[in-house]
Amino acid sequence: MTDNRARDIEQAPPNAPEAPPTDESPAPRRVLLIQAHPDDAEFMCAGTVAKWVQEGAEAHYCSITSGDKGTADPFLSAPEIATIREREQRNACAVLGVTSVTFLGYLDATLVPDLALRRELTRVIRRVKPDALMCQDPTMRFSGQRYINHPDHLAAGEAALAAVFPSARDHKTFPELLDEGLEPHVTPEIYIYGAREADIWVDISSAIDTKIAALKEHVSQVGGGDPTERMYEWGRETARQHPDRPDDFGEFAESFKYMNLGS
Ligand SMILES: [Zn+2]
Repeated sequence: MTDNRARDIEQAPPNAPEAPPTDESPAPRRVLLIQAHPDDAEFMCAGTVAKWVQEGAEAHYCSITSGDKGTADPFLSAPEIATIREREQRNACAVLGVTSVTFLGYLDATLVPDLALRRELTRVIRRVKPDALMCQDPTMRFSGQRYINHPDHLAAGEAALAAVFPSARDHKTFPELLDEGLEPHVTPEIYIYGAREADIWVDISSAIDTKIAALKEHVSQVGGGDPTERMYEWGRETARQHPDRPDDFGEFAESFKYMNLGS
């Protein structure tokens, strides 16, 4: 335990200067996005994914469930919905230029951040070896007076953060992964989307139309209407929330809680 504590302090010295990325910072080289359901990323943060891919990043998606409860149609079975939504997610990823999509096959609306899920996500992190991990916010239980966050989003965020720290880093956690040839990996940067306390803003003005095109691939979820104006307004509102918005900052933004664990 002493050893772990010493290493934790070494990783995050309390008085270390923080240098959060700016829009002039280079894109991460390899990104892993973890989401609870197909379409979570397209709503919340796919503009940033698209922008980074345009700048040369390699992006990978991991969808913990396949969104098999996501319909009001009583004649569609859960496996049928999952098949539809996996296809829609692959199509959205093709629009964004995402390199790979992994579906872990957990059931929608029943997700809990247990050790089995943490192990699965640790496996994915050690396989992809990302420079930046994007995940949901386990503390975002509700917002305003009209929004209760989906419990799967909380569970996905909790499991992802527990996987990236400390499980993916430590040799002795889930030693069976070493037997699979999956060595420990430290992910330096973490971007938490849908965050309760955002502290960085990414200018997605060059990528918002790609984000919207990707979102439209989720036909089973948005097929009844055009999300374009809604996404433009979200992007504008997020940009307006930027407290230190540079003069040349664009019209549209996505925001994140940012963490840098070093390398
Ligand atoms: Zn969702």
